[in-house]
Amino acid sequence: MKTYDVIIIGAGAAGMAGAIAAKQENPKLKLAVLEKMDRPGLKVAASGNGRCNITNTSCPDYLGTMKFFQSIGIMTRDDGRGWIYPYNEEAKSVVSVLKETMKKQGTELFCGKRVTAVSHIDYEETSKVRGDKDGMFEILVEGEEESYKAKRILLSTGGKSGPKLGTTGDGFILARNLGHMIRTLVPSLTTIETHEDVRYLSGVRAKARVTLYFEGIPVAAEDGEVQFTEKGISGICVYNLTRYMTELPLDSYGVRIDFLPDVWNIEELLIDRENLMGKEDMLLTMVKRPLRKLIEDEAGGDLHVMANLVKEFPLSVKNLGGWRQAQVTRGGVDLSQVSHETQESTIVKGLFIAGEVLDYDGPCGGFNLNNAWQTGIKAGRAMATL
Ligand SMILES: Cc1cc2nc3c(=O)[nH]c(=O)nc-3n(C[C@H](O)[C@H](O)[C@H](O)COP(=O)(O)OP(=O)(O)OC[C@H]3O[C@@H](n4cnc5c(N)ncnc54)[C@H](O)[C@@H]3O)c2cc1C
Repeated sequence: MKTYDVIIIGAGAAGMAGAIAAKQENPKLKLAVLEKMDRPGLKVAASGNGRCNITNTSCPDYLGTMKFFQSIGIMTRDDGRGWIYPYNEEAKSVVSVLKETMKKQGTELFCGKRVTAVSHIDYEETSKVRGDKDGMFEILVEGEEESYKAKRILLSTGGKSGPKLGTTGDGFILARNLGHMIRTLVPSLTTIETHEDVRYLSGVRAKARVTLYFEGIPVAAEDGEVQFTEKGISGICVYNLTRYMTELPLDSYGVRIDFLPDVWNIEELLIDRENLMGKEDMLLTMVKRPLRKLIEDEAGGDLHVMANLVKEFPLSVKNLGGWRQAQVTRGGVDLSQVSHETQESTIVKGLFIAGEVLDYDGPCGGFNLNNAWQTGIKAGRAMATL
């Protein structure tokens, strides 16, 4: 009989933080973690380009997150902007610490276990009172006949972004089947595909200010490195702008790129450079080669058009990158159905929900992992007091 005090579904950021916090609170807890993939924490290991931007000094209760990391020996450093990374900037070693801590604490981690169904047996309601008024959860795993049982469970199955890393949205179905409202799921922090053919610019990276427009009105702007791809544009500044693209149709959005955000009098500057360097070379050292060629060709010697292209390079939005390109999921379990203090569901007693399966999505910079750690820790501590 596979019966536990607590079962955690999903060994990602929230699930592993939850398991560790629960055992720190109550070492005697009989705790199991069920993970669908053959290893825990695949997404954490891939995060931040393999560097793992684990939190940010601007996150709410950032110090609480740091205290947790210190309690298990994760050394960190600030990159100078408040973005926090493990000291060695190696995401895999963060996963190793989490995994080893769980092992030392006596948590049973089972990999290759995809949870397909969760039901709650309410002993009080069914009059099968066995001295346990909270009831019991029954968990089914793909390909296994015998079910797992636990008094409390944590649903920490993540979102739908990066499906190769194990997150295909199973948790939303499990939560909905347990009576929860799921806010519409949309890929967020993702690439932008443009109507314009930008293939010849693919691979070009430029530090710029990118402004998002909706029906010609500016919505938001971000400074950063914009990267041209086969289908459009990418980069942290672009990802952050996709969080504002909440209206349809998507082609009502447009983007303008300012390749010289710190220069206002661009036409004057171009005239000076034309006099100094000649028409052919005036954009040299200002913009990179394929862009320079494009701007020169389109401007055809007209300085006003050239100035506009340098300061407001226009692109129209065709689509957003899908789940494979997205870093996070917008939407998820409605936050009004989960206690903010404990992460316990207000619909099903004993069910706790943490991480990206919830309707939370933050900007780039460590906010999404921070949300996973913090909600996982809160749930772990609350579940430990049985
Ligand atoms: C490429 C990439 C880079 C990112 N970089 C950053 C970054 O640097 N900083 C940042 O803050 N955020 C980053 N994010 C976002 C961040 O990684 C996630 O928001 C965070 O991992 C969510 O934590 P979680 O525990 O909710 O889910 P996850 O960490 O995704 O873990 C969920 C786990 O549940 C498992 N699972 C799913 N379904 C089942 C099932 N049915 N049964 C059993 N197990 C299941 C999955 O296999 C997975 O291991 C990045 C995301 C991506 C895709």
